[in-house]
Amino acid sequence: MQVHRPTHVEIDLDALRHNFLLARAQAGEGREVLAVVKADAYGHGAVPVARVLQGAGADLFGVAIVEEGVELRRAGIHAPILVLGGIYPGQEEDLLRQDLTPCLFDLAVARRLQTAAAAAGRILPYHLKLDTGMGRVGFRPEELPQVLAELAALPALRMEGVISHLALADEPQHPFTDEQVRRFRQALAQIRAAGFAPRYTHIGNSAALFSRVLPECNLVRPGIVLYGGLPAAEFAGRLDLQPVMSFRTSIAQLKTVPPGTGISYGHRFTTSVPTLLATIPVGYADGYSRHLSCKGEVLVRGRRAPVVGTVCMDWTLIDVSAIPGVEVGDEVTLLGSDNGNRISAEEWAEKVGSISYEVFCSVSKRVPRIYKDQSSDLQGPTAEAAPQP
Ligand SMILES: *Cc1c(COP(=O)(O)O)cnc(C)c1O
Repeated sequence: MQVHRPTHVEIDLDALRHNFLLARAQAGEGREVLAVVKADAYGHGAVPVARVLQGAGADLFGVAIVEEGVELRRAGIHAPILVLGGIYPGQEEDLLRQDLTPCLFDLAVARRLQTAAAAAGRILPYHLKLDTGMGRVGFRPEELPQVLAELAALPALRMEGVISHLALADEPQHPFTDEQVRRFRQALAQIRAAGFAPRYTHIGNSAALFSRVLPECNLVRPGIVLYGGLPAAEFAGRLDLQPVMSFRTSIAQLKTVPPGTGISYGHRFTTSVPTLLATIPVGYADGYSRHLSCKGEVLVRGRRAPVVGTVCMDWTLIDVSAIPGVEVGDEVTLLGSDNGNRISAEEWAEKVGSISYEVFCSVSKRVPRIYKDQSSDLQGPTAEAAPQP
């Protein structure tokens, strides 16, 4: 399908490579990197992102659900893929056929996988998921003796890794992280004493990778930093990350309205002076949050223009009175840089009471992703639409 509506996302694959290499360097010698590409690579497009990261040296990939792993395999990604989320009845065949590695935190799932793997004549590697203090999924340390005994009795399953997740890594000074690491270390000792020899031990996301040493781990799991997002506000100005996603559209209509004109649903904004309004073809159905009504700012000709009135499903209004020479068709930047000015995902997130992760993930499926890759094309920039899933 040809795309003619100007609303689109640009993905800078050179920036992605740069951020990955930064994470890789931070991981250091002797630690492998699992690139987290769940949720369509945080909205950036899992297949093109994984292809670039596989080329850049990612050792493993992390997805949330089996379907995401299957998509990567079908696209020719051959690196190991860890499914961080759950495995549900009926997914055993796909998991085995596509050579995906499950995280196990439920013995009923383990038994189903044992049956499926045995029937296929396979030995299935898995990572044991521990709850060291996130309170989400994972076996709790006190359950370990019984869990390890049960797992030892499932001969078609082989423990390849031990995984846990930090609840407070984005507050780097928080002492609870030390407690989680202590519980993790203790659990590892118990697991090894029970005769298991996991090749991978890992607990760290982006925030932990850039703030902790974690000697008990030989694998790190960065996600947000790959996409140029800050793992926490206090990393601002301290990490050499490059933003990967830009979200742009262009002006569809311009009109001057008199003072006292009510704008958009609910007339939540009324002009007080003659105002030059621009209508842009983007709305909350594209992921431009309705919480940005009367609050968001966009860039036109390198200058900031405020969102006025309620963000609609497919349209948004901006006040461009202060932008000299503005014309229909002018590019509008919702996220990203324009002429030295920038709207960051963190700025946007703060306005809607969220985090950059959700800003990236909420750009909807109907917004085409355009991939830009200068380093793999000596002719100059290329733009290629993402393959449709
Ligand atoms: C999403 C996720 C990550 C990546 O977290 P970031 O904060 O984006 O680096 C790592 N591990 C697990 C288990 C996750 O679910």
